[in-house]
Amino acid sequence: MTSTLNDKTALVTGSSRGIGRASALGLAREGALVAVHYGRDKQAARETVDLIEKDGGRAFAVGAELGTPGAVDQLFHQLEAGLREHTGETALDILVNNAAATTLGDAPEEVSAEQIDEIFAVNAKAPFLLVQRALGLIPDGGRIINISSAVTRRAVPPQIVYAMSKGALDQLTLHLARHLAPRQITVNSVLPGITDNGSAVFQIPEAREQMSQLSAFKRLGEPEEVANVVVFLATDRARWITGASLDATGGSLLG
Ligand code: NAP
Repeated sequence: MTSTLNDKTALVTGSSRGIGRASALGLAREGALVAVHYGRDKQAARETVDLIEKDGGRAFAVGAELGTPGAVDQLFHQLEAGLREHTGETALDILVNNAAATTLGDAPEEVSAEQIDEIFAVNAKAPFLLVQRALGLIPDGGRIINISSAVTRRAVPPQIVYAMSKGALDQLTLHLARHLAPRQITVNSVLPGITDNGSAVFQIPEAREQMSQLSAFKRLGEPEEVANVVVFLATDRARWITGASLDATGGSLLG
């Protein structure tokens, strides 16, 4: 095992599957103790923890449905207990805001006020509240990594609300990067393109083919390929990068 994150602790929201799971595995492989957060699927989070442990890493699961009342308190209660149990203290070196709700792809004319509230609650408000709460635990030199999306840079009208919520997340990156620089805490966004997270749409050959054409490499991204960027940002090698948006789209925005 390499050890660039030995003695570090991390929370990855939404790491029961997809990019979050790959990021949790990647951080743990570098030596970090990882809190694997899930919303509803406790079993899947347990599987992520098992995968990490089989790989020789350390992890524990924390559950809270973001966007619901009390979720942040619930999450931090479990997080602090887990950190204390494993390390004897509650320092959190790395926060990855990855959990997100996606829209079904309604035309802008069809979007309801409730949908906007739901998406913003999970994708923008929850990361803000998580950072706010985590700041008491994050030591100088810590890392905040926000998983945004390529749709903040490329017009996809049926994804307008989701894209707006990710745009708000990018603002969190920008302003917090300045605010936290005196403490050497870096804050960055990672922009995935279309990434095969194993969900139903990726089982349809025609859909896969169509989505593959968006990347300059004419294929879908793998969760590990986005996770590699997350892990890099978490390491000391990335200490000079803050307030940035790292493109992890396989050249989908090249035009
Ligand atoms: P995914 O496979 O759909 O998994 C989403 C994760 O977020 C799950 O672990 C889920 O947990 C959790 N989650 C969702 N809503 C939640 C809530 N209300 N409270 C708590 N947890 C919640 O996601 P993904 O495709 O890997 O995407 C990961 C990140 O990359 C997201 O921020 C997404 O917007 C971004 N992204 C993805 C793509 C892509 O093509 N996949 C492209 C651009 C950006 P439970 O299942 O346990 O509820």
